[in-house]
Amino acid sequence: MNNLYISSHPLVSHKLTHIRDRRTKSRQFRELIREISALLTYEATADLNTTPRDIETPMAVTKGVELRENIGLVPILRAGLGMVEGIWWLMPNAEVWHIGLYRDEETLQPIEYYNKLPVEPTVSVCLILDPMLATGGSAVATVNILKDWGVNKIKFVGILGAPAGIQNLQTNHPDVPIHLAAIDDRLNDQGYIIPGLGDAGDRQFGTG
Ligand code: URA
Repeated sequence: MNNLYISSHPLVSHKLTHIRDRRTKSRQFRELIREISALLTYEATADLNTTPRDIETPMAVTKGVELRENIGLVPILRAGLGMVEGIWWLMPNAEVWHIGLYRDEETLQPIEYYNKLPVEPTVSVCLILDPMLATGGSAVATVNILKDWGVNKIKFVGILGAPAGIQNLQTNHPDVPIHLAAIDDRLNDQGYIIPGLGDAGDRQFGTG
């Protein structure tokens, strides 16, 4: 599938195995979310634009570069929140914008309940963060909101994806690259990814 990147890095695969394990407790689960998010974002940001800049070392003047992009992190509440810390570790100046969505029980469509984006975009690139790309409904709605805001360089960073969610996001937004640690088999009747890792929110926040 186009614009779909599945990490083949052994560190990611190793950590993914541990995060799937039902015996992994919240504290370690949160650490793994942070670590996998940082590793995937390292791969997802390989094409960011830079500007050349002269730099003076203690020995000589030489040439370096600086990131030219302002980066916005958009975690999908609530499971995406735990991904922010790991990515901030790489990009401490990234802005974090929260968008709240819930699923209407009758129409099953995502409804926006929180959005404080300013009128003009303050970033040139947005990374949408959600560990689980399940049905893809929230991801599609979030991309719609960010495009309406005026940001056109958008990437999705998650940990696991179900085929249905990947297809939904790719059909609606083929220009948005999807970065994942793995694609799983399917969704069950409750919308959980199988084999998955369970409820990523509950496992992070100890609410399961
Ligand atoms: N959200 C989760 O937390 N887990 C899933 O398997 C699917 C959606």
